[in-house]
Amino acid sequence: MDHYLKKELYDLVKKDSRIFDFIQKGSLDGIWYWDLENPEIEWMSSKFWTELGYDPALMPHEASAWRDIINQDDLKIAGEMLNRHFENPQIPYDQIVRYTHKHGSTVYIRCRGMMISDESGKPIRMLGAHNNITSVVNYTSERESSQRLIDLNTALINKNKELEQFTYVASQDLQEPLNSILSFSKLLEEEIDSSNDLVNECLQVIQGSAYRMKDFNTSLLEYSRIGRETEMTDLDVRGLIEEIKIDLNDTIVSSQAVVAYIGEPIKIKAYRSDLYRLFLNIIQNGIKYTASDTDPFVEIDMEESYTHYTFSISDNGIGIPEEHFGKIFDVFKRLHNRAEYPGTGIGLSHCKKVAELHRGKLWLTSEVGKGSTFYFTIPK
Ligand code: ADP
Repeated sequence: MDHYLKKELYDLVKKDSRIFDFIQKGSLDGIWYWDLENPEIEWMSSKFWTELGYDPALMPHEASAWRDIINQDDLKIAGEMLNRHFENPQIPYDQIVRYTHKHGSTVYIRCRGMMISDESGKPIRMLGAHNNITSVVNYTSERESSQRLIDLNTALINKNKELEQFTYVASQDLQEPLNSILSFSKLLEEEIDSSNDLVNECLQVIQGSAYRMKDFNTSLLEYSRIGRETEMTDLDVRGLIEEIKIDLNDTIVSSQAVVAYIGEPIKIKAYRSDLYRLFLNIIQNGIKYTASDTDPFVEIDMEESYTHYTFSISDNGIGIPEEHFGKIFDVFKRLHNRAEYPGTGIGLSHCKKVAELHRGKLWLTSEVGKGSTFYFTIPK
């Protein structure tokens, strides 16, 4: 037996048209009532048109009005589905169709309908309901695309790991033959007649090339090791710079360079060996890229803000033209040939990777002939 409230509601709908209005406006985004005997005539509730951005007062109650703005592929499917429903009213007419909003966007409407027949069973009317499901469709496709993005990122991370692993293994395997070339050529140097200039020259070239390759290999190996450290530690920056100065002692002495940390003494959370490399590479460059008649002067400073530390490393070197500011961070990119200044072109790309590993940034300012300042941030 029907609930007494249901019965009461149905009676109320029959008696009072305001009740029907309330139901259709409150629960649907449009209602349609179609005269199948005069298929061009169709009454559409005003909500359908406002959902699509049109003024209902200006829209005729004609099927052609919506036929013009419905997606034409969906219209074809609608025709087939309606026919099926007419043949067998047990098969519901229920379809998602796309309309074009007055402003051009796509509106997804779930369109349901039921056929009404006369006493002889002939279909004479069709009653239908609209629900605007655009926000649900958009939400789902947004989620799908962000999932696709996550999948792509994971694939990229895995590929990167593979590549790093490959570089690591390859450069490690190269170390051994390189060491053999060096030690055997030195042995040869000791054993053979040193008065033969050509032989001596050849040996020097072999050793020079092997040393260069070794440097290159070490840089590559270190580059592939970025991010292997798993724990951040509390780092005393001034102490780290002092350590670098000790490790660079020969270079500092031979070039009569001055390297000084002038920032406040602080401790920051960072990956120790990675940050060591970052400072080392930039300080080394600051000493290396100076004119031969200038004593290198490298000054390291620090500024603290609420969210991060900004470190700056300034030199009095040859400077870098602004058009090369982006290029120098690319791996293997060099602005000078080896005869002018030795190097591998890996150092700065290594530094950039380390800054990014710490979720920081690396950039520079420079003036040709006056010097450069490299900046990087480490978030707190
Ligand atoms: P490398 O020093 O091994 O060549 P880097 O990646 O460290 O490689 O630097 C890339 C290029 O940027 C260098 O070849 C050099 O031309 C330029 N460069 C880097 N640092 C400086 C600097 N402090 N002053 C002038 N030029 C620099």
